[in-house]
Amino acid sequence: LVPRLRPFTSTIFAEMTALAARTGAVNLGQGFPDTDGPPAMLAAAQEAIGSGVNQYPPGPGRPELRAAIAESRARYGTAYDPDGEILVTVGATEAIAAALLSLVQTGDEVILFEPYYDSYAASVALAGATRVVVPLVEEESGRFGVPVEALRAAVTPRTKAVLVNTPHNPTGSVFTAAELAGIAAVCRDHDLLAITDEVYEDLLFDGRAHTPLASLPGMRERTLTISSAGKSFNCTGWKIGWVCGPAGLVSAVRAAKQFMTFVGGAPFQPAVAYALGHESAWVASTRDVLADKRNRLSAGLAAAGFGVRQAEGTYFVCADIRPLGYSDGVEFCYALPERAGVAAVPLQVFTDSPEQWKHLVRFAFCKRDEVLDEAVERLGRLR
Ligand code: PMP
Ligand code: GLN
Repeated sequence: LVPRLRPFTSTIFAEMTALAARTGAVNLGQGFPDTDGPPAMLAAAQEAIGSGVNQYPPGPGRPELRAAIAESRARYGTAYDPDGEILVTVGATEAIAAALLSLVQTGDEVILFEPYYDSYAASVALAGATRVVVPLVEEESGRFGVPVEALRAAVTPRTKAVLVNTPHNPTGSVFTAAELAGIAAVCRDHDLLAITDEVYEDLLFDGRAHTPLASLPGMRERTLTISSAGKSFNCTGWKIGWVCGPAGLVSAVRAAKQFMTFVGGAPFQPAVAYALGHESAWVASTRDVLADKRNRLSAGLAAAGFGVRQAEGTYFVCADIRPLGYSDGVEFCYALPERAGVAAVPLQVFTDSPEQWKHLVRFAFCKRDEVLDEAVERLGRLR
């Protein structure tokens, strides 16, 4: 294995899911829903397979999907030309990797907020660039905030790009208007590229609304906006993602993408196009159900003795293990399946400063109520 990939040999999600399977633990580690997406979307995929949509789709993605993506971005006031400004990818993961591989190189620095989704660090490393990490700040309220001045201070002459994920995995934080404005100002002042990961754009709770960074003044021309269907439509295994941005940047991403996978998921593309166009009511009700699940798991974790943090969006709630007498999230999560029959994920594996984050673990609440209840009952035995 080449040295730059050696720190990334296995993902925490694969490890925890395997451990959960081996021990029969309730898997609240890996974030994927345990119910299916809208039935008409599933039927559309079956219909596509039955009617012969089984060969390579066009390089940029099927036209009806690119049109539906453009329509979906229009709700935020950002317009993208389906021909040239939108590229369909194999999930957001490929879009992130292809964006970095095509736009940064050795000598460049890419700023990530920590904790960061694991593929960011690996993709920066694949591109040969260097990551510079800015820690989110754990606020008194239990939310995780963006330290804009620390971001500004992290910029050097080598900084090429900032990667921004909101709603944020793993903290569940939704960046505020002021935080986004601060990030945008830093990008404009230092002429930086912004790469945004908006895969949880539909999963914000308590009346919060999603604001894409690209919709802020002066940002469209310097931002690649990435999202995918997995989280919005409960189809994480379909791996249909996309990237939107100015034609020059998108064609760069396409140059890398065409030699990574060329294209992907032909019959899923019309189904996702259908869902984007017709399933907003399903998405809204799923979001409300998820907010209830967030409440259900948060209350259960609190009753079990954890220090529960705020989840403003996503599939995840973070919890402090110190009130239970534990201090190291990695040790805790590796022991938890045996000890309590539940799997969770430690935050420190998504950071460069494990000491600062080792008191926190992440639980996924995108599961059926009976699964959450079973997990909470098992965790109750920890005290
Ligand atoms: N970004 C974040 C923040 C995620 O949580 C995930 C996980 N599902 C992804 C990207 C990957 O998305 P996809 O499955 O579309 O590749
Ligand atoms: N995004 C999911 C999570 O954070 C997992 C995706 C994966 O297994 N790579 O749990």
